[in-house]
Amino acid sequence: MHDVLPNDINVWQKLESVASSVFSGYGYTEIRTPVLEKTALFVNSIGESTDIVEKEMYAFADRGGEHIALRPEGTAGVVRAAIENGLLYGQPQRLWYRGAMFRRERPQRGRTRQFHQIGIEAFGMAGPDIDAEIILMGQRLWQALGLKDLRLEINSLGSSEERANYREKLVGYLQSRFDQLDEDSKRRLERNPLRILDSKNPKTQELLKDAPKLKDCFGSESLQYMGTLLEALDSLGVSYTLNPYLVRGLDYYSQTVFEWITDELGAQGTVCAGGRYDGLVEQRSGKPWPGIGFAMGEERLVELLKLEAQKPASSADIYIVLQGQGSELAGLQLAEQVRSQIPELRLQSNMGAGSFKAQFKRADRSGADYALVMAETEMQASTITIKPLRGQGEQLNIPIVELIDWLHLHYS
Ligand code: ATP
Ligand code: MG
Repeated sequence: MHDVLPNDINVWQKLESVASSVFSGYGYTEIRTPVLEKTALFVNSIGESTDIVEKEMYAFADRGGEHIALRPEGTAGVVRAAIENGLLYGQPQRLWYRGAMFRRERPQRGRTRQFHQIGIEAFGMAGPDIDAEIILMGQRLWQALGLKDLRLEINSLGSSEERANYREKLVGYLQSRFDQLDEDSKRRLERNPLRILDSKNPKTQELLKDAPKLKDCFGSESLQYMGTLLEALDSLGVSYTLNPYLVRGLDYYSQTVFEWITDELGAQGTVCAGGRYDGLVEQRSGKPWPGIGFAMGEERLVELLKLEAQKPASSADIYIVLQGQGSELAGLQLAEQVRSQIPELRLQSNMGAGSFKAQFKRADRSGADYALVMAETEMQASTITIKPLRGQGEQLNIPIVELIDWLHLHYS
């Protein structure tokens, strides 16, 4: 557990105020719930065989013999409060929270036993439109904070029946290879086998390559849900990577799960994690009601913000890479159009030709976030290729007429 000292406090305050203003721009209001809750709330919501409940929770009997715990995460308490206070049902509800969370983990870089989360929960919206919106909200927050190197990973966990079905297949597959599993995975095989999917052990990862795939257990509903979300993200110009091994540690997730990750903080690079938890409200209140949310780790974001502040200033947001006959003139034209429409954008065009390799080197040196590539293929098809330069995801190719919209989405 760490002290936050005066030297760092402005970074924490900036993070908190920017988050609160971005959230409020999407109609979220703040909720504050107690740090202590009944232990049973967490055991039932998070799941008995999760790391948190099995090993990490600070749970004890108080002087009256009541079993209480320091909250290890925010969602369970927010759901409890929303149900008890009649905030749900018949209306959508968008809430955000921040505060200290407690988990007795092995101390290591990026993990402390008291840490702080800022999170959001959206109730009463079946998705996937809200799934896309909260991802956009995350993206807008990173942009407002000046964090450029975060990448988005997404997976779908399907419905709880599909997951149960898959669980059996996975256990069958791994049981016959039990000897090859690492110790952690052996332990998880009975209690929480899906968590083996995100094992960092290379041998286990190798073993998983031929394992049954969760997606193969999906029915048409889950497939369609995921498909619609990914299509929406594609047309909104959000870059992401599908990670079939992303499972998340908590039992209550269903369908969409996602993480925002940085490569700059070592092994604990997830700064924001979330997903859909449609079964949770029903489990607590008996009435089905959809929910989705995410939580960010403040310590990790503060560290990232401090690293960002040390970096040399960049001279461009966008670097235009040009290749092929006529591209130089077309590039000058395009750049002028963009400057007229988005004057605050810092744009550098490549001058004096050069190989792709040389141009990308210049692009990198400019500090730009993205390269726009205009080569023969693009010019013939009236498209443009957008290549993330800071590990934000995969490159995409869009019609040139959509470029201004894409830039607006990322830069205004
Ligand atoms: P992991 O599998 O890495 O343990 P988790 O599933 O326990 O992750 P969540 O409960 O989803 O993580 O927490 C959301 C976010 O809160 C994390 O991505 C991280 O940024 C932050 N966080 C979680 N635990 C800690 C901790 N012990 N110390 C610092 N930050 C944490
Ligand atoms: Mg954990």
